[in-house]
Amino acid sequence: MDDGSVAEALRLLPKVDALLGDAAFAPVIAAFGRALVTEAVRADLQDLRGGIACGTFMEEVEPWVLPEACAERARRRLEAQHRVRCGRALNATGVVLHTGLGRAPLSEGARRALVAASGFAVVEVDRASGQRGQRDEAVAALLRELTGAEAATVVNNNAAATLITLAALAAGRPVIVSRGQLVEIGGSFRIPDVMAQSGARLVEVGTTNRTHLADYERALDAHPDAALLLRVHTSNFRVVGFTSEVSTAELVALGRRRGVPVMDDLGSGSFVDLAPHGLPHEPRVQDSVAAGAGVVTFSGDKLLGGPQAGLVVGQRALVEQVRRHPLYRALRPDKLTLAALEATLVASRDPVRACEELPALRMIAAPLAALEARAQAIARALVAAVPSLVVTVVEGASKVGGGSYAVEALPTRLVAVAPPAGWRLEVVASRLRERDPAVFARIHDDRLVLDPRTLLGPDEDREVVDALAAVLRR
Ligand SMILES: *Cc1c(COP(=O)(O)O)cnc(C)c1O
Repeated sequence: MDDGSVAEALRLLPKVDALLGDAAFAPVIAAFGRALVTEAVRADLQDLRGGIACGTFMEEVEPWVLPEACAERARRRLEAQHRVRCGRALNATGVVLHTGLGRAPLSEGARRALVAASGFAVVEVDRASGQRGQRDEAVAALLRELTGAEAATVVNNNAAATLITLAALAAGRPVIVSRGQLVEIGGSFRIPDVMAQSGARLVEVGTTNRTHLADYERALDAHPDAALLLRVHTSNFRVVGFTSEVSTAELVALGRRRGVPVMDDLGSGSFVDLAPHGLPHEPRVQDSVAAGAGVVTFSGDKLLGGPQAGLVVGQRALVEQVRRHPLYRALRPDKLTLAALEATLVASRDPVRACEELPALRMIAAPLAALEARAQAIARALVAAVPSLVVTVVEGASKVGGGSYAVEALPTRLVAVAPPAGWRLEVVASRLRERDPAVFARIHDDRLVLDPRTLLGPDEDREVVDALAAVLRR
């Protein structure tokens, strides 16, 4: 474009008021209000002006300045601005409890409960008497039933559960922990730091790889005022080779002789034994309670498959101390968490039902043959939608994630997409994430790989196919 035609093109730009008065803008103004639409139109015209000045509009400017086109761009601009950033995502990464994507996806029952509780809800009222009740009572009753514990309560996450339990039971007193269990969970959650925040005094025993019962005994001799023997599940790493740990039952027996309760921080506590699904046996929450732990803490959104929450179960006197601690008011969950958690716990009563209804468990338990069939269907649909794509189905591995089963891999089948002509895979992956719903895939060995295990089912498989086809059609 020469200077003359630039000036010519700039003259074609419409006036803001003229545009806003055009019938094409009426629905946009109705949806977003005149002030926001005015701003959007100004920004749009500014973009056009810039584009004309630097020669982006090689062809005609006219189609771009039609009121209909301007209204459509303003609508898209405002929709993008109004889009909830914490929006829905399709997880094709194969990491089931993906912390970046909100860990466990909720069951249909939990989603219904969440919506039902989103207006006024029966949170802290006793239905029979109409009197003020306790907000955690329904969930606590289910937790007692599921774990066999005398008492239970709920806070916002397991980090909070650990903090408040230590603060309530051990502030100012020694807590004895094996050096092999001084874990960092990620972010800033480190057992020694949480201990310091709670006011408890950390007493380390044993070594990184081996801790014996005698180590705990000597620590109790040296610290007769010890408040707790703490066990921490080493969820996210594994020490292999010359190792030894003291079991919960042994620790409980020692604690009983000395009058010191055992606290068991299970992290990703589960009610279901996942050994039939190819994972190593891990003690369930009810096993820890049966072994005699005084208080057990675990997450709601790890292997429980529910909303973010920290659950505390155990002996009545200890759990009551936690509930009465001033931090409880600061850490208590909201009605939405309680509603979703209650529905999740109801589904957990029956292990078979839990593995069918709770998506995280269903994903872990998915049979390889079913994953293979879904991967093949996705591959076929992709090639049907974009015939030039080179797509194969290959063997791969999914992960449980969320700091659970750190070293185990779940065998899966992956849809592997070769770089489409003219595209870098990083750009394809980024465009997929920018969509709504956002699509998260992995890049591995110069392939974009999609793991059907972590998509919620055939409907989401189709959505991913449509999303990738839409990105590549641009
Ligand atoms: C994950 C984990 C935590 C923290 O739980 P959040 O629910 O993420 O707050 C604490 N302790 C252990 C052992 C864990 O695995």
